[in-house]
Amino acid sequence: MYYANLTYMKPKEIALNAPLKNDKINLGELSTDEIGDEHLHTGIATPMRQDAFAMSDEEKITKIEFHFREIMETLGLDLTDDSLNGTPKRVAKMYIHELFNGLNPANKPKVALFDNKYKYNEMLVEKGISFYSNCEHHFVPIFGKAHIAYISSGKVIGLSKLNRIVNYFAKRPQVQERLTVQIANELQACLQTADVAVLIDAKHLCVASRGIKDNSSATVTSFYGGKFKEEFTRNEFLKYLDLKTEY
Ligand SMILES: [Zn+2]
Repeated sequence: MYYANLTYMKPKEIALNAPLKNDKINLGELSTDEIGDEHLHTGIATPMRQDAFAMSDEEKITKIEFHFREIMETLGLDLTDDSLNGTPKRVAKMYIHELFNGLNPANKPKVALFDNKYKYNEMLVEKGISFYSNCEHHFVPIFGKAHIAYISSGKVIGLSKLNRIVNYFAKRPQVQERLTVQIANELQACLQTADVAVLIDAKHLCVASRGIKDNSSATVTSFYGGKFKEEFTRNEFLKYLDLKTEY
C-alpha cells in the first residue's frame, strides 16, 4: 500500500493512516499525551533493546521493586504500613512472572504440529479466547476475547495451543493492533499456512477509566490472511462467531 498524499499530512495523520508493516513509524513530533491518547505505535515488533535479557529475572525483580517503592513513596504513601510494605516486591514479581512474561522468548509456547490424519479440511474456529493484556501507553489493562480461525494445510495443532499463543503475546505491554498481527503472524508460521484469521474485541481501561472516560465503547481489530481475504470464507468465519449455543 502506498499513500500518495503522505507528504501533505500532519504527523498524527500519517501515523493513523500508515499501513501495518515492519517499517518504523516516526512519532517524534507528537507530544507524549497525544501518542498515548491516540494509541499510536511504531511497528509490529514489540520495541525491545538488544540487551533486554542481559539481566536475570531475579535481578529485574530487585530493580523494579526498588523503583516501585520510589514511586509509592513519591506519592506520599507510608511504606512502613503493613498493608503497603510488601507491595513493591509483589508488583515486581507480578510484572516479571505474570503480566509481562510474554516479553521473554523463552516463555513462548512450544507448539507441536500433528498430521491432519482425519483429513479435516474445513475451517477450524476457536472463539471466545479470554485474554488480559496491558496498554503500553498507560500500563493499565486491556482485556477481551480473541477469535481465531485457520484452514489446515495438512497440519493441525492442539486447541489449547491457540489459547496459549494469544496469552503469550498478551503478556506484554501492547497496543491492540500489534497484538492482533503478532498472534496472526505466529499462527501462520506455526501452522505453515497463510489461511489464518484473528479477530479481537477488547476493552481498554485507559479509555474507560481515564482520558475520554468512555465505559461503553470497545475496540475491534482483525487480521485476514490467505483464503480469509475472500469474502465467502471471511463471512463463514464471522457467521460462526454469531452462533449462539447452549453449552
Ligand atoms: Zn492506553
